[in-house]
Amino acid sequence: MERTQVPQDAQQTAPALLLRNATVIDGAVNQPVPALDVLVEHGRIQAVAPTGTLPLPATAGPERLRVLECTGLTVLPGFFDCHVHVSTRPDADRFDTLMAPESLLTLRSVPVLASTLDAGITTARDLAGADSGFRSAVEAGHVRGPALQIALRILSITGGHGDWRTVGGTPLDSGPGAGVVADSPAGFVRATREVVREGADWIKVAATGGMSSPRSAPEAGGLTEAELRAVVQEAERQGVVGVAAHAQGTAGIAAAVRAGVRSIEHGYLVDGPTLQEMGERGTYLVPTLSALTRPAPEHGPPHEVERRHRMRETALERLSAALTSGVPVALGTDAGIAPHGRNLRELALMVRLGLSPAAAIAAGTSVAARMCRLDDEVGTVRAGMRADLVVTGVDPLTDIAALGDPDAIRTVVRGGRIVRHTDVPSDAGRERAA
Ligand SMILES: [Zn+2]
Repeated sequence: MERTQVPQDAQQTAPALLLRNATVIDGAVNQPVPALDVLVEHGRIQAVAPTGTLPLPATAGPERLRVLECTGLTVLPGFFDCHVHVSTRPDADRFDTLMAPESLLTLRSVPVLASTLDAGITTARDLAGADSGFRSAVEAGHVRGPALQIALRILSITGGHGDWRTVGGTPLDSGPGAGVVADSPAGFVRATREVVREGADWIKVAATGGMSSPRSAPEAGGLTEAELRAVVQEAERQGVVGVAAHAQGTAGIAAAVRAGVRSIEHGYLVDGPTLQEMGERGTYLVPTLSALTRPAPEHGPPHEVERRHRMRETALERLSAALTSGVPVALGTDAGIAPHGRNLRELALMVRLGLSPAAAIAAGTSVAARMCRLDDEVGTVRAGMRADLVVTGVDPLTDIAALGDPDAIRTVVRGGRIVRHTDVPSDAGRERAA
């Protein structure tokens, strides 16, 4: 397999790029349109038009214009994963992590970022762990990876999902991803300002306990509604993108929605009345099915194994109702808990729970872009948009599961630049993986 990994040098100007004779799924309407040319210049989509009808740049030549023959291939917008932890590994041993120097943890994230990009993800929202250095390093081209929005830390009550101290008070979670613990509306205003100071695009709150948290089960309450409101208000005042609420139990999800958070993460036990309110308010749901459906960790703590067994079936039922209720759904995997670099497996899981393949693609493109307030820039294949694109040999509308195999992603374009290109036919890749 020939795989070109183009070094990204932000200063260097990329040649214009013509994706010729592609079928285009634009991410918004999602009716595939065959036989289109997509012309990219200066990092943006200049035009999308029937094959052969575009006037090519006057000085066209191999250094000025690269042509990708896309006959039989489909071009989609670059995808979003709206819930990742690039600095966390699903197989990580907590003791090893505690004892590791910061540099090792950071450098281990370099291939994670690359594999996320290679899986077709051109924008990711990291919901705890990555600090602003990750975002800057990708933007500057020091490492290959998706553009990042970051939350840095989770805001949690004492004993809640972000409080990783031993009973004696020893922190088990230090460094940039450690939770911020507070216990009053004023305390959470301050915590919000603290993560904004560190460069947060999003504020992440623990509205309930969680599967892995040592003292706080998924059904347990996290921030009170008054505390959640204080965070939402301060987040608006500070002009961040929004508040993302880790919320698994029914009451905590409802409180977060009433308080006005922008996204519900997981949403496992969401009920009918809250779904209705989410629909009215336009609250986004990020169902993280990749994390929910992964096998319970073999050597995980017994409480986590028990919670996963206990909740899984009910959560799948509730989320199936949610996905077909019309609330806006954005793709997010919880990679870091779920495996990295297999992000688009989430598409098939969403389809299994009732989304159409086209709606699942929208969840990973145009809807995710809207949630992240980036829909003027990315998420659709349209003239004027930033050229973040994915080229695949599979037909995503008839075989959505195939997109979950990174070998099906032939080409990734980010900001008009080819950042991954492989000439292996996607079918061969799939046979090998099977
Ligand atoms: Zn998470």
